[in-house]
Amino acid sequence: MKAKILYIEDNEQNFYLVQFILTAKGHQVSWARDGQSGVEMAGRERFHLILLDIQLPVRNGYLVAQELRRNPALASIPIVALTSYAMAGDREKALAAGCSGYIEKPINPATFAEQIERFLAKTQEGSPQP
Ligand code: MN
Repeated sequence: MKAKILYIEDNEQNFYLVQFILTAKGHQVSWARDGQSGVEMAGRERFHLILLDIQLPVRNGYLVAQELRRNPALASIPIVALTSYAMAGDREKALAAGCSGYIEKPINPATFAEQIERFLAKTQEGSPQP
């Protein structure tokens, strides 16, 4: 499945790495550099999946996840948090904020696409696609 993915990330290098990996698999990756524009883009365009950095300026990823989940149209979209390996409490907080799951940073380029495809496969089972 070729997916439309939104990546909310303030770090350019992180974005380009993820984009490189996922476009090589045929996916399309859009970039929002902060939470505000991420929420706006998610409300405007239909995405199959949202990747969410937790350490974002102004509004952290937890607040962004909560805001995304307040939009009923986005209720069934998987939101995958990118949490830092060192921050043990991040994962629980990400799930509590409405994220569907998490992937630890730094990402592993060898397995990242597969991890994303697992999340995509889960949503394909039930909910309507964009
Ligand atoms: Mn960041």
